Formats: sequence, structure tokens, C-alpha cells
Amino acid sequence: MIKKIKGTYDILPEESEKWQKIEDVMKNVARIFNFKEIRTPIFEASELFHRSVGQSSDIVKKETYDFKDRGNRSNTLRPEGTAPIVRAVIENKLYADASQPQKLYYYGPMFRYERPQKGRQRQFHQFGAEIIGSSSPLVDVEIINFAITYLQALNIKDIVIKVNSLGDKASKKQYLEVLSEYLEPNINKLCKDCQRRHKENPLRVLDCKVDQDNPVVLAAPKPLDYLSDSAKYHFDHVVLGLESLGLNFEIDKNLVRGLDYYTHTVFEIISESDKLGSQSTLVGGGRYNDLISDLDGPDTPAVGFAFGAERIILALENSAFFAEESEIHAYFINLDNVFENDALKIINDLRLGGLIIDYDFLNRSLKAQFKQADRVNARYYLIYGEKEASEHKINVKNAKTGEQETVNLDDLYQYLLSKFQNSNISKACEGCNGC
Ligand code: AMP
Repeated sequence: MIKKIKGTYDILPEESEKWQKIEDVMKNVARIFNFKEIRTPIFEASELFHRSVGQSSDIVKKETYDFKDRGNRSNTLRPEGTAPIVRAVIENKLYADASQPQKLYYYGPMFRYERPQKGRQRQFHQFGAEIIGSSSPLVDVEIINFAITYLQALNIKDIVIKVNSLGDKASKKQYLEVLSEYLEPNINKLCKDCQRRHKENPLRVLDCKVDQDNPVVLAAPKPLDYLSDSAKYHFDHVVLGLESLGLNFEIDKNLVRGLDYYTHTVFEIISESDKLGSQSTLVGGGRYNDLISDLDGPDTPAVGFAFGAERIILALENSAFFAEESEIHAYFINLDNVFENDALKIINDLRLGGLIIDYDFLNRSLKAQFKQADRVNARYYLIYGEKEASEHKINVKNAKTGEQETVNLDDLYQYLLSKFQNSNISKACEGCNGC
């Protein structure tokens, strides 16, 4: 038997309803913040990630899925969403669009060759957003608020919001020199990974999980103490904005994030629930003012975030959000030959009106059809046979109360609709009659 690849998994029908729910909320929150969706290919030229995420990042060093195509070109399955979006913005000249800044969101699978564990897969899904074309601190506030509003809409509590600033290009460069000088004589006191990292990616030493209580790391100089005046002004205003929204957040001077392209604000939202195990970061993001010009686009400031959707699902485990069972409006109980008695047409007309209707395909007995109707949580049974057909009528039975009425077929749709007014099961769509 062929099995799935390590670090991947199937989302089976029962689970996929949960996914659809968190995706619906994502789309609704994006709508109220007026973000538009962008969809980019799942694979890109490898160079895109080498030049953006960074040669020294863990992602590019050891996690990308690279392959040569039949034309011997190097391609990479996308490990994250920001670089492809920046590529698309440059290639499609979205930076020149009259509507600025561009407020974009994306959703889809990402691929990283990591050690699989709870909340960490090799194929995982990210929901992300980017605002491209404004250097205002208001935009940092907007993006952080978007991420928080999504969690609030899902009723995910027990979260900690952490923010920090890495400064602009110049202050980050100066700080990195200071940090390298500080780490040099202490290098033997750091973990093996940090001994390797300190030369090419010294920032990562600050947020190393192994060394988090190491006195060398605790006493290290922090980026926040090396901000230029304008970088400090920017960060102070981000803080002011978050305060004026009444958000609870903390400034974490050690927060740096793992991707090379961040400048100015970086942030993370961490779940304190034990449902997530050690992979507790729900969302990470920050500003990347130089990435677009580094990828040969015009000098364009930008800021973004990415949620891990698997972690959202984990955080919502056993919550009321997933408690509601899925229901259908009605199950058609077929007493006689469906091919001869117009049943297919009746079912189809109800569906075109937006009602969720199902019926039997296995030639089940009458009793078994009622059982199946209960299994799929039908609110009504529509009972129909030759007698009903000859009278142009149908029996409609409430699955919960057992109440039954005989309804003229011409009135069936309106009759059912009236039953679902003020009900928590609404029409699946406006239906083709309503379009
Ligand atoms: P990053 O793109 O590394 O900044 O990660 C942003 C978010 O994506 C993280 O906070 C996680 O929620 C999620 N994430 C990153 N890598 C994985 C993975 N291998 N499996 C599941 N979720 C991930």
C-alpha cells in the first residue's frame, strides 16, 4: 500500500469542515479590513527564496524542497508566502496601481523539510496578509490588529502579543556589528547551533530556544537600544497605536524572527494553551522595507504576517467553535422509482433555490433511508412515492418533533423556506433562483 509522505497528512471530510470554518472567518475578517486575496503559484524559481528569506536562514539552509525541472531549471516549493507575493507585486507592477497601499491576503500550503511534530509539518498551511506601499506606523498597527481580530473572531483566548523593533537598515547593520563583537569572545558558551549561527545570522542567537536562559544571551545588547531617531519614532507610534486600540501586548527585546528580510517592527502572537505543545507561535510577522528593492523592484515599504492554520485548528480543539454539528435542510425519502416519479426534478429545484438536500443512492430500504437521513442530520424528511406523485403532493416530516404535513409540490420550496426563517441553518447560497 502506498502511504502518505512523512510530515504530510490527509484532511478527511469531518476535519475539513473545521478548516472551512476557520477559512470562512479568515475571509470575513479580511473583508472588514478591506484586504483583497492574491493567489500565487506553489513553486517558484529557487533564487527567489535564496535572495529574500536569506541564504543564512534555517529555511533556505536546510528546509526547502528544491527540484530541477525537465529544462534543468532550479525550482522550489514555496516555504512561505511573502517572497512570492513580492515577486508578483513587482512582476505585475501592483506598486504602480492607483489604489495604494495594496492590502493583500493569501492562504495555501507551504513546504518545509522540518522534523515533524505536533503543530509542525512538512506541508502546512499559512494564512497571511501584506500591506505594500506605506511606511506609516499606522500600517504596522493595522496589520497587527488584523491578526488579533482574526483570533478574537475565532474566540481564541490565552494569547500573548509580543512586539519589538529591529530598526531600519542602517540601525540594524550597526546593531549587528555590536552584537557580533559582543558574541565573539563568548562563543564557546553558546549552544552548537548558535556557534554556527553567530557569524552568518547573529540575530538568531537572541531567540534561541536552547540558550534562552543563558547569561550570555540575557546580557547581550538588544536591537531596541540601537534604534536611529526615525526608527525609534516609528516604533513609538506603533506602540501608541496598539495602546489606543486597548490591546494588551508586551515589548520583547529578544524577539527577532527567523527570516532575514525583517526591519523595524517584528511581532508574534503566542498561545499559552497547552493544546499546542512546544509549537506555540500562532502568527509571526513584521516590516520588510527593503525586500522589494532587494528583489529589483522600486523602493517600496511593506509589512505582513503569517498564521499557521494547523496551529489555529489545534488551538480550537474541543472548543464551542467546532461544537456545532453540520446539518442539512432535508433528506428525500424515496418510496418508489425515482426515475419515473419526478423526484430528481423536485430535489434539483430545491437545491437550485439554495437548500441543502440529499437522497439515497444505494437502493436502501425505507427504514434505512430514515436512518441515513438522521446520520446526515437532516432537519426534515421529504417523503414521496407514487401516491404523492399522482396527487402532486409530498409529505414533509420534522425529524425532531415527528410533526408531518402534506404540502402541494408547487408550494414546497416556500414552505421549507418558511421553516428555516430565524433558524441557525441558513440557505447554502442565494441559489440560482435568487441570482
Ligand atoms: P514563519 O513563516 O516561519 O514566520 O511562520 C509563521 C507561522 O507559520 C508560525 O507562527 C507557525 O504558526 C506557522 N508555521 C511555520 N512553520 C510551520 C510548520 N512547519 N508547520 C506548521 N506551521 C508552521
